[in-house]
Amino acid sequence: MDAFPMDGLARTFQQVESNLLVRIVFNHRLQRYFQAIRATRFFDYLCSTHMGGKILYKSGIRQDIFSHDDLLIENLTHNPQLCRQCGKCKAYCPMDRPLPEGIADQEGCLQCLYCYLVCPEQAISLQGQFGFFNEQIHQYGAHIKKIV
Ligand code: SF4
Ligand code: SF4
Repeated sequence: MDAFPMDGLARTFQQVESNLLVRIVFNHRLQRYFQAIRATRFFDYLCSTHMGGKILYKSGIRQDIFSHDDLLIENLTHNPQLCRQCGKCKAYCPMDRPLPEGIADQEGCLQCLYCYLVCPEQAISLQGQFGFFNEQIHQYGAHIKKIV
């Protein structure tokens, strides 16, 4: 198996940005008031909706958007026209599969999608339902390609 490329992981990550609203909500003197609001059924319900989650995320109070939609992978395909044989998909595959050409043969594939995420050319495509993975790609897809 190829050595796992660790260079990118030694980077310093950016500090999480905070804003006035976040500083107020997480102020330790005010916490008991916000905790009381947070414990109400209505707020609980609001947090569980997609829109509520988005608002909390956009406001900086929550660090992520949660989705209950499943990821259903039907197939992964490799497009040789887009591929420049950089080898990243193979280097990051935990199963050491014969990539990129062997992507179509799903035997031994964990469906972790590391190959899909690291490919700099979009030469690997996914068929199926993206579910919660849509939001992950939206938020982190470009960052992952920069790090690897
Ligand atoms: S999805 Fe994961 S296990 Fe399957 S080929 Fe890609 S990197 Fe390898
Ligand atoms: S990462 Fe993408 S471009 Fe690189 S070899 Fe694999 S499929 Fe080709």
